[in-house]
Amino acid sequence: MGLPPQLTPEQRQEALLKAAISRKRRAEVKFKIKNGEFSIDTVLEIAKTEDAVAKMRVKELLESLSGVGKVRAQSLMERLNISPTRRIQGLGRLQIKQLREEFMKSEHAIKPGKLLVLSGPGGVGKSTVAKKLREAGDFWVSVSATTRSPRNNEIDGKDYFFVSDDEFTRMINADEFLEWAEFAGNRYGTPQEKVEQALLLGRNVLLEIEIAGAKQVKAHLPQSVLVFLEPPTWEELVARLEGRGTDSPERRAERLKLAQEELVAASYFDVVLINDQVESVVRRLIELAHN
Ligand code: ADP
Ligand code: 5GP
Repeated sequence: MGLPPQLTPEQRQEALLKAAISRKRRAEVKFKIKNGEFSIDTVLEIAKTEDAVAKMRVKELLESLSGVGKVRAQSLMERLNISPTRRIQGLGRLQIKQLREEFMKSEHAIKPGKLLVLSGPGGVGKSTVAKKLREAGDFWVSVSATTRSPRNNEIDGKDYFFVSDDEFTRMINADEFLEWAEFAGNRYGTPQEKVEQALLLGRNVLLEIEIAGAKQVKAHLPQSVLVFLEPPTWEELVARLEGRGTDSPERRAERLKLAQEELVAASYFDVVLINDQVESVVRRLIELAHN
């Protein structure tokens, strides 16, 4: 084995400078991959002509791609037989082809659905609107868990999952809720897993929940759209609650008192819609999901 070449101080200085420029270029490329400006295809093309980019480690390239963390990068490299220290310039033709195919797939991956949260005072028409949306098929409407007793016409698993107080507490402790809140003496919560699955499968999701819960959803998922449903007038809200005929006069008085407090919250919401016609509210919500 020959001795390593001896560099003059000037050559050493020059080599250090060149290495620093290469590192800077790789950092710049990684930044552009992270913010979506460069796809994996673009980087593989640049690496054909730029030495600095050709020397980037494949691991670094993969981990910079949005949605690819350390775990996915490692398992992908194992599957494609790429050693952990391999640089782009060391990739074989087959590995390049396989990498391209892999990310072509994810570039065409399903676009996640939109999450719309519908709130508003009791009796304004939230469940009527939610039912129509479910029938229209544009939304997957989440079914909440509640400790409230079923009303006459309500079906377990369709309108709510009616659960005991102990079961609700168990669900909170097991972190099964996206949000939960207490309302008029009962607890209500949105089961998290099904909502996440539906969104990942590209379904638009509707939650019909009260205001404290809506705020929790926004805090967890800022991309969600909070919609507040208002009655055309206060008198109409009173008439709707009476017309529904599901509450005793005492319970109705309690709900109306709560409704007064709830109406104040409208300003917190992204969108306010007046429920004069159910059909036009349904149309607006479908438009919001497709925007
Ligand atoms: P919420 O779920 O907000 O408590 P509901 O959906 O149960 O309210 O509606 C309360 C009552 O108002 C129901 O009897 C329903 O049929 C009626 N309702 C809902 N929307 C309208 C509307 N746009 N015009 C007239 N009545 C409505
Ligand atoms: P009701 O008893 O009339 O069915 O519902 C009372 C309130 O609880 C309504 O405002 C309804 O939107 C809300 N609600 C229903 N499910 C949930 C839920 O999962 N989470 C929260 N925070 N509120 C809910």
